[in-house]
Amino acid sequence: MSTTASVNDRIQTIVGGGTKESVCSTDLAKGPWEFDTQAPGYGPGSSMGDVIPTGSPVQGGLPAEYKSATNDELHERIRIAKETLGERVVILGHFYQREEVVRHADYLGDSYQLAVAAKNRPEAEAIIFCGVHFMAETADILSASHQSVILPNLAAGCSMADMADIDSVTQCWEELTALYGTEPDASGRVPVIPVTYMNSSAALKGFCGENGGIVCTSSNAETVLKWAFERGQRVLFFPDQHLGRNTAKAMGVPLEAMPLWHGRKPLGGNTTDELQAAQVILWNGFCSVHKRFTVAQIDQARIDHPGVRVIVHPECPMPVVDAADEYGSTEYIRKAVAEATEPTTFAIGTEINMVQRLAAQYPQHTIFCLDPVVCPCSTMYRIHPGYLAWVLERLVAGEVVNQIVVPDDVAVPARVALERMLAAKPV
Ligand code: SF4
Repeated sequence: MSTTASVNDRIQTIVGGGTKESVCSTDLAKGPWEFDTQAPGYGPGSSMGDVIPTGSPVQGGLPAEYKSATNDELHERIRIAKETLGERVVILGHFYQREEVVRHADYLGDSYQLAVAAKNRPEAEAIIFCGVHFMAETADILSASHQSVILPNLAAGCSMADMADIDSVTQCWEELTALYGTEPDASGRVPVIPVTYMNSSAALKGFCGENGGIVCTSSNAETVLKWAFERGQRVLFFPDQHLGRNTAKAMGVPLEAMPLWHGRKPLGGNTTDELQAAQVILWNGFCSVHKRFTVAQIDQARIDHPGVRVIVHPECPMPVVDAADEYGSTEYIRKAVAEATEPTTFAIGTEINMVQRLAAQYPQHTIFCLDPVVCPCSTMYRIHPGYLAWVLERLVAGEVVNQIVVPDDVAVPARVALERMLAAKPV
């Protein structure tokens, strides 16, 4: 992968007072280990306020030599370790990953593209997933049994995925089953089908596999919802309310038929009438990065750049999606930019690392992030190159650290839900 402009360099400059730009948390300029000392936190910036979920893996101490090394030194150590390991290792980098890490990746993509890429490298004994926890879990579910999936920093979670845990979803399911029963209607459709976004724990994918449900990505959410409506009278969609709402609305589902389910409230805070009339029950989750985008930012972009093409991710709130010219997955956004034949001004509503990379890769266009505050996905940002150097050098020494293992009782039904998605429409 080529080296392009770095969000980390930009953050260091902002925090050092070298520019009038602003950053959502000055902690982003620190090494992740600096705020993960006494009581491990769960990421600076937009998810700083998130409580670390019970049972989350906690990253142990990183040896001092990796904390004190410069970026150039780490780059060289990573390069040498990777060369030594050769075909035995494959490094996957998510679109939202920082540039200092992505430059070492064999594949760059969204979470599902990367899990498939891992599947296509059976000779690699180790898959190093430079993304977040649920992505490494999916790679483990889809990879061969002789492969180890490694997450360089175990504290790289996803604040959205953590908003729906298996206990709360099971509780919700029991309440819905008590209300709707389990009998299919005259056309054979069951009362409710669970649909989980890829950005969820393996346990929730397994829950969907066991309960007639399915997984979706932001690329295929509409296809998956159609699949679900062929089999069910209504859908329980988790964890991202915005992807669920934006997709169902585009399919013609009225907003009043999409109640929000608040965990820990009886019936999720709804009446039985509201739930009886529901077509899509939306879990009250969201992405802390994409919820920062606003209609006011779009209005400003249109004033500052007449003719601007505004594209946002469907994890953005509905008014933002409605105000944009287009919306789509990270892959949709990447293709839209790559395929624009005339020099174009793009205002993009997704994570800053991806936007800045696109701007560097396509200098014939003017490309900027809708959010003027520099605010990367703070949990993904925890994959600092120091952690990548550490896991690679441990592999060279014959030790697998930070392996993500999904137990069979979860992996088997989770694979069922993922395979249903593939059968509905290959991604
Ligand atoms: S951008 Fe949002 S949904 Fe994606 S990994 Fe980060 S917190 Fe999770």
